[in-house]
Amino acid sequence: MTTIGDFKTFAQALPKQNTKMPVLFIGHGSPMNGIEINEFSNTWKQLGKEIATPRAVLCISAHWLTKGTHITAMENPRTIHDFGGFPETLYQVQYPAPGNPSLASEIQKLLKTVPTGLDHDWGLDHGCWTVVRNMFPDAHIPVLQLSIDFHKPTNYHYQLAKELNNLRTKGVLIIGSGNIVHNLGKIAWDKFSVPDYGFDWAIEFNETVKKNITEKKHSNLIGYQNLGVASKLAVPTPDHYLPLLYALALQENNEQVSFFNDNYIAGSLSMTSIKISS
Ligand code: ZN
Repeated sequence: MTTIGDFKTFAQALPKQNTKMPVLFIGHGSPMNGIEINEFSNTWKQLGKEIATPRAVLCISAHWLTKGTHITAMENPRTIHDFGGFPETLYQVQYPAPGNPSLASEIQKLLKTVPTGLDHDWGLDHGCWTVVRNMFPDAHIPVLQLSIDFHKPTNYHYQLAKELNNLRTKGVLIIGSGNIVHNLGKIAWDKFSVPDYGFDWAIEFNETVKKNITEKKHSNLIGYQNLGVASKLAVPTPDHYLPLLYALALQENNEQVSFFNDNYIAGSLSMTSIKISS
């Protein structure tokens, strides 16, 4: 059981706020969304204006896969350019949001079922900063990342995420960042400029996932490998899918899910994103 006292240090460091924060899953897609002005980045900008200003952001990004569970605990996380082959301007982007070591320690205590390491090496990878930079361009809000233990099954992640729930009433915006459909090996490189272009299997899987989200059949989503043959093409590896489970695990009975950026890119990517709120 987490008590208010557990958050004393954190609460003292930040302004009072009682709002229960929504939870987001963001389909982040190409790293270029971090600097391009397009329908996706415009939606992220709008989201940042619409929701209550968080005290901190906690990202669970598809791009931080580890053995064990770790949380960034440095004062000033670096901007990680963890991609290749993009224009030089993208590598020059810095997102100098601060960290929050005391909040990292609070989250470490909050995660009671697993030992969580305080990390001083990672920073903000592109699954995180390309999104958060658009939402909060001033970079004044502390941003932390929680790693994904890539050696664990899907249900482990769903259960672990539930332990983060109390953070929502402490002003922490939790963002899972990945893509529901993500198969880079099948990308139709000549279709990037075709709006909303998705392969049949991509649409089939994405729509099945959306239906299960709407009907709150989370067990089906935890066992996504059983959602038909399309799942093997849509989720060849679970890295970009797992952040969705972190978001869904935080949905409470009285909360609804709304979809946005519900589009396909180059056949084998979906940008479908969700906001969970009451
Ligand atoms: Zn990615």
